[in-house]
Amino acid sequence: MIESECLVVRSYDFRETSLIVDLVSKELGSVRALVKGARNPEKNWTAHLLPLSHIKVSLYPGKNIYLLGNCEMVNFFSSIRGNLYRLCLATSLLEIAYLISPPPHQELFSFLFKTLYFLDRNNNSSLSLFPVYSWLKILHFSGFHPELKKCVVCRKEEDISLYSVKLGGILCEQCRERDQYAIRVDKQIIGVFPILSRIPLPEIKKIYISGRHKTRLRQIVYSHLLYRLEHKPPTLRFLEKMFLRDE
Ligand SMILES: [Zn+2]
Repeated sequence: MIESECLVVRSYDFRETSLIVDLVSKELGSVRALVKGARNPEKNWTAHLLPLSHIKVSLYPGKNIYLLGNCEMVNFFSSIRGNLYRLCLATSLLEIAYLISPPPHQELFSFLFKTLYFLDRNNNSSLSLFPVYSWLKILHFSGFHPELKKCVVCRKEEDISLYSVKLGGILCEQCRERDQYAIRVDKQIIGVFPILSRIPLPEIKKIYISGRHKTRLRQIVYSHLLYRLEHKPPTLRFLEKMFLRDE
């Protein structure tokens, strides 16, 4: 049996009273578990197992799926749940992490955990760079961080003017032929990349970048993310449709 701290990604009804839950676990990474009788009135863990909840659980390894034994609520993130944009952002990050998460998991879990607490407590802070920032962090902790300081081919720091999703980072003029689909990128965006990679989350509001460049930056990092994910999780699709419009 493993005691684990988890964030709930999604849950499905299973048979009469059970649930199947997908979790991002601090100890195990992406986990699917069966929760027998979760919808029984005497147990009633339905709220515990809603997407986003931070829970402590006991997990028993089964043949194809874990069995969830005990479940204790740590945080329900009620403030995030009261705002559709924040809810979409938070649940899409969990879905991305669930899809992409390879071991080790601790740093990724710790980032998600801090991010949800930040979203829950800072109701009024600007979130315009938040998606880009969190996508880059998840890519980083999963080992897919794009090269944002030097040309991804020749390692030169000068004459950077393109971004290659295929090669995974910025490209200089001399190496442009290595990817005919490389995207042309403005200098202001090239300058923001390394800052975004190193500052803590509460500091992102201090970064100044125009609306046009912000949109372009988001498009670039989003393309990189989708390339790595291979398919778009439902909440990310919804977030894109409803909220990720050009500024
Ligand atoms: Zn180069």
